Amino acid sequence: MKISLYNSLSKKIESFNPLLGNQVRMYSCGPTVYNYAHIGNMRAFLFADLLQRVLRVVGNYSVRWVMNITNIDDKTIKSSKIGSDLWKPEMGEQTDNPLQNLSKFTLFYEDAFIEDITKLGINPKHIESLPRATEFIPQMQDLTRRIVENGYAYISDGSVYFNVAEWRKKDVYGKLFKIDFENFRPGVRMDADQYQREDISDFVLWKVAKPNEPFWKFELSGVKCDGRPGWHLECSAMERELLGLPFDIHTGGIDLKFPHHEDEIAQSKAGYGNDPTTFWCHNEFLFVEGEKMSKSKNNFYTLRDLLDKNIDALDIRFSMLSAHYGSVFNFTFNSISSARKARMRIQEFIYSLFDDNKTGKRKYDVEKLRNDIFVELANDLHSPKALAQLFAFINTVSTGELDLNSKTKLIVLFTELNDIFSVWEIKPETKEDISLPEEVVILAQKRLEARLSKDFKLADEFRQQISSKGYSVKDTKDSFELEKL
Ligand code: AMP
Ligand code: ZN
Repeated sequence: MKISLYNSLSKKIESFNPLLGNQVRMYSCGPTVYNYAHIGNMRAFLFADLLQRVLRVVGNYSVRWVMNITNIDDKTIKSSKIGSDLWKPEMGEQTDNPLQNLSKFTLFYEDAFIEDITKLGINPKHIESLPRATEFIPQMQDLTRRIVENGYAYISDGSVYFNVAEWRKKDVYGKLFKIDFENFRPGVRMDADQYQREDISDFVLWKVAKPNEPFWKFELSGVKCDGRPGWHLECSAMERELLGLPFDIHTGGIDLKFPHHEDEIAQSKAGYGNDPTTFWCHNEFLFVEGEKMSKSKNNFYTLRDLLDKNIDALDIRFSMLSAHYGSVFNFTFNSISSARKARMRIQEFIYSLFDDNKTGKRKYDVEKLRNDIFVELANDLHSPKALAQLFAFINTVSTGELDLNSKTKLIVLFTELNDIFSVWEIKPETKEDISLPEEVVILAQKRLEARLSKDFKLADEFRQQISSKGYSVKDTKDSFELEKL
């Protein structure tokens, strides 16, 4: 099915077509591993996960999903320094080698991140690569050099800055985010990785080494520039190295539109002469009880905080799926308990499909239901509307009235849907039932109907046809069981 997505670049919903045949190349800005990820971060990763699953299952594409690990930036460096209260005994001893400390520190939070997303129903096997920024330093230096050589960056005191005023003569700066240049002062430099749009300035590509901080040797235009990459540069270099330019989709939270993604576009074009991607997709914010999360408001939660309150991670996943990624998601403890009820309601329905005592004669148009759900997902990942279709079905149909063929098809559908939603359990012992050939199930259904109308001759004929296909049929009260011969 064709997928459409809201593209932050055109600010419209567009029909999605990958650049290379059936393959989608997708890059997601990953975690900055300086602490446990909070549930706002998790929303961004769950959005990217939903997107790659819909592309695979609904769009029938093969997806190459890359998510970077920011293991060097202002925050990771500061937090891994001697004396930081974020250093834990499990990380080992701190040494006088800042790079070693940074590595031990960030690996600890990287492992925690993988553990957390796995609990949230993200399958790390779906991610082709989780590149660590520190493993792509030569590519970052190469990009810095290219931008300088092309005339869009300059060196100042060993650091390298992107020249925004010069770039604006060539291309738009402000493609994702309308920027007001009224207060822009050309040549003013910004060293911090994160800054506000009011502070628009020449942003840093490469930062000169500071005492007791990690650095790499780098000589540029005959000038000694030993130091480390700026955050924006990291993504530009890694995505090109791993996916090639331009790729298909870049994801991230809405807060990354400026400056991070705007700077990525400028860097890629100024250095490689290519746009990073054709689709920019951003998730909206997560609020807690109607407010922005902040430690001072005491409403700041990591996934672990919620698990400690005995909340099931899959209820968190399900509650986020119940809202569209493009609208603000208000996390409340009430919404979690409603999500749990709704998830369990569907879970019970799935279990009931395996109950032999609950089989009737009604043939349900499962193909239509599947299509209705997929249409909603294909329309800019409208998961709440897709779930509404599912609930409308569950609330009006009981398994007891469905014939076995419809039930088998529904099991197949739920297995497929779970490849997208990933919040249910499809009974493992049913695997064999699911793989029953449809024609055998239909013959068994016909035999059941004949038996119930007491036409035992016809029922016997169907039994012979079933066994000629390699299956035996065992009668139960008002249903049947099939077994491979
Ligand atoms: P970081 O680890 O800070 O680099 O952020 C990882 C991802 O989380 C980015 O895509 C951010 O845009 C996203 N993010 C951060 N805070 C929120 C929030 N409150 N709601 C939704 N997404 C967020
Ligand atoms: Zn990024």
